[in-house]
Amino acid sequence: MMSILPITVFGDNILRKKAAPVTEINDDLISIVRDMFLTMNNANGIGLAANQVGVNRRIFIVDISPVEGYEKFKPMTLINPKIVSKSDELEPYEEGCLSIPELKAEVIRPKKIEILYFDLNMREHKLEVDDLVARVIQHELDHLNGILFVDYLDEETQKKIKKHLNKIKNRKLDVGYPITDSSNYIYYK
Ligand code: ZN
Repeated sequence: MMSILPITVFGDNILRKKAAPVTEINDDLISIVRDMFLTMNNANGIGLAANQVGVNRRIFIVDISPVEGYEKFKPMTLINPKIVSKSDELEPYEEGCLSIPELKAEVIRPKKIEILYFDLNMREHKLEVDDLVARVIQHELDHLNGILFVDYLDEETQKKIKKHLNKIKNRKLDVGYPITDSSNYIYYK
């Protein structure tokens, strides 16, 4: 059976942890990835990292096919991903995050990256991606290292969003999808 999982939010401890490498794909992880897709689609997201559903593993999923111009994009599951090269060219883009609802802010990142990752069959892939795909992958890979996009914002912006972040932390914000009810939430050990 598939289920929509609660999403961890800003302030939850697992979001600040470096996720552990995947050493083998078992049935539990396969079923978690399926649930992650259901959870992401339900929340209208285009990327989701395992620690965003309380799973401390180096896995994330990407599906940008709902975005105009990317209709043909095939959903991806990336396991133990690594960036092997980044372009010198940088690009600004307004990012959001399912773990930080109702906040968007511009983040500057490399426009193009080359990545190495494993799929669910533990087959290795090397891929060069740019623009929105590179953007989402960098954002999700940050999650696996305990980094959130708000960490990149300047001091002045940090001050401005503090109240909002506290609201999220204290679960005082109405979110249109299930979120965790405790900052110590863990789904799978
Ligand atoms: Zn995010």
